[in-house]
Amino acid sequence: FQSCNNISSSTKTTKNDSNQDANIERKVDSVLALMNLNEKIGQMVQYAASWDVTGPASSEGNKFKEEKLKKGEVGSMLNVTSVKAVREAQKLVMENSRLKIPLIFGYDVIHGYETIFPIPLGESASWDLEIIRKSAEVAAIETSAAGVQWTFAPMLDVSRDARWGRIMEGAGEDPYLSSKIGVARINGFQGDDLSKNNTIAACAKHFAGYGFGEAGRDYNTVNIGEHELHNAVLPPFKAAAEAGVATFMNSFNEIDGIPATASKKLQRDLLKGEWAWNGFVVSDWASIAEMIAHGYAKDKKHAAELALNAGSDMDMESYAYEAELEKLLEENKVKLSDIDDAVRRILRVKFQLGLFDDPYRYCDEEREKNEIYTKEHLEIARDVAKKSIVLLKNDTVTTKKSALLPLSKSVKSIAVIGPLADDKDTPLGNWRGKGKYNSAVSLLEGVKSAAGDDTKIYYEKGIELTSKTVAPGENQFLHLMEFNTTDRSGISAAVAAAKKADVVLLAIGENAFQTGEGRSQTKIGFAGLQQELLEAVYAVNKNVVIVLMNGRPMDITWAAENVPTILECWHLGSQSGFAIADVLFGDYNPSGKLPVSFPYNVGQEPLYYNQKSTGRPMSTQVTYSGYNDAPKVALYPFGHGLSYTNFSYGNVSLDKAEMAKDGEIQVSVNVTNNGTRDGEEVVQLYIRDLVGSLTRPIKELKGFEKTMLKAGESKVISFTINTETLQFYTAKNKWEVEPGDFNVWVGGSSTTKNKAEFVVN
Ligand code: BGC
Repeated sequence: FQSCNNISSSTKTTKNDSNQDANIERKVDSVLALMNLNEKIGQMVQYAASWDVTGPASSEGNKFKEEKLKKGEVGSMLNVTSVKAVREAQKLVMENSRLKIPLIFGYDVIHGYETIFPIPLGESASWDLEIIRKSAEVAAIETSAAGVQWTFAPMLDVSRDARWGRIMEGAGEDPYLSSKIGVARINGFQGDDLSKNNTIAACAKHFAGYGFGEAGRDYNTVNIGEHELHNAVLPPFKAAAEAGVATFMNSFNEIDGIPATASKKLQRDLLKGEWAWNGFVVSDWASIAEMIAHGYAKDKKHAAELALNAGSDMDMESYAYEAELEKLLEENKVKLSDIDDAVRRILRVKFQLGLFDDPYRYCDEEREKNEIYTKEHLEIARDVAKKSIVLLKNDTVTTKKSALLPLSKSVKSIAVIGPLADDKDTPLGNWRGKGKYNSAVSLLEGVKSAAGDDTKIYYEKGIELTSKTVAPGENQFLHLMEFNTTDRSGISAAVAAAKKADVVLLAIGENAFQTGEGRSQTKIGFAGLQQELLEAVYAVNKNVVIVLMNGRPMDITWAAENVPTILECWHLGSQSGFAIADVLFGDYNPSGKLPVSFPYNVGQEPLYYNQKSTGRPMSTQVTYSGYNDAPKVALYPFGHGLSYTNFSYGNVSLDKAEMAKDGEIQVSVNVTNNGTRDGEEVVQLYIRDLVGSLTRPIKELKGFEKTMLKAGESKVISFTINTETLQFYTAKNKWEVEPGDFNVWVGGSSTTKNKAEFVVN
């Protein structure tokens, strides 16, 4: 019997090369023709590793997996992360199985492999598509150097709810920004040629609706109207499919009564049908079997039937396909053509990756030694990190007649205070790949390296943030954070340090594992004794800069109303402390803008700028749509972020006041840097469709440009408004532009009032 290896030869593929595509299709067909049913079903099975660097161990579970691998009845493995382990698993297949179809290895490389970049939400605050692409490219280089050729990223779930722990993994609340950033990440991972051994397959996840779980609870029920689904949730996924993302992952949640894993409408009809996308869909971890708990499948067999018929191609850790598909086929409950289609999709990606040419092409010990956690990668991580920082507030303090930031390098003394001030682990954030415990540069280290020789630095931790945290090596999924700390003994030393310093840097926020999967919260203020520490320090020294480290929008209202300066530093990754110091001392002028709204309090959630208007929007009405006890707007809105310089905007000018449905309007605005420092500004364009066949958001981001302006410099920034800008999923269930009146704004945040009007005929 011929092994499929002989079918390989050159399989180079690029995105637009139809000859290569046809070549691959022929090869996929010829492999498929050789396969028996068990081998086909096997391709649709993905196992998690129970072993790592040490290679296959001898536990019962591993023995079982090992046997399946040898028979060629496994298509993929996840969490096998080293050249040695990848090689060993691949060898089991290549040296024992009949057809020798190589495995594809997947891993969650969410914001870096070992060189850790800012958490995705933080990185999104850069609004800088090129550095976001670059960060994914570096992650791909390191991942592939470790033998792995597939990441389960980017997460494209739009989320409007700060309570949801996984808001840290996405690009925030806006579908347009999430689409652009998602595509930048996919391009970074996949490059322009998937068959190079330093690019990896990306995965658009979680399809779909996962970010809209009720009450911000993870895995929770999603109730979303059909039009809102298309207008707010699906755009990043459509953009990913168009960008040629190799794989999709479905999601744990149900939508309108149907678990996403069983949604034929989403997977077969929309993704593979209407969008004509030809990659494969992997289930989320055990999401096929979880349909039993959902009360949608009566048993595993039923679950397998539902998932395959809906278009889920690969079973991650449910053990449902391998056990049930053959029986289901005999009973005519699933079709062989659907199994063939799934296998074809999986083989196609393997061919695109060049795995049939050489199943060990990612197994290069030299690369593993030389291309991971390099000096060059760390420099890029520092660059991305500093560009992800958002200056939320920087008021003039009366005693100094200026703002606290940037700090002068000759400042006499700095108190660096707080539970996160010298934390070398939290900046790595959740989903930190192979980021090593305690390997980040802490704020204290960064400040020490940047401050002048004569600056005195007083460090006091003050308090512990958590009473129990995740120990190195502990499984964070099984671990719950606790904040019932009572030890106040360090607060007096912190207060004493604050008293004698010119300026206080107070590092507070969230522990790395406070956000992420299974990390939803009903409180989004400062957990534990942090608020108490903040108020105690502020009572003795008003010159406080809050260095906020967090993975979700937080309730920082007291701080915003009292403390002069707040710097949003997310979980910035390996180079966190250096990047923050770059901004604190003015070596880098902050340029980040919020990709999510920060509320006054959690009761406002879900809160997002592109909401709809009610019938009673104005405060001039007798009763209106707000709250008795809080503003209805954000404390810090979407798109907000300050600089050490000032930007001013001229009026929005349009080249015409009317356009045809399929026409264009040029929008331009003169932006000036009025300050004395060079700086970058994110110029944002928003529109409003005033009357529609469906109600439209009061504002929608439809363009942005990050631009560098020298001190005193002016630039004209232009945008084109066209069909793509104006269309939406209308009452006719079609993407269309509806004629009528529109507003357009251009400014430095979603609250800009700089407006013009036009008509579409
Ligand atoms: C998560 C996915 C992840 C998968 C594999 C699941 O629990 O929802 O996002 O890719 O695990 O680790």
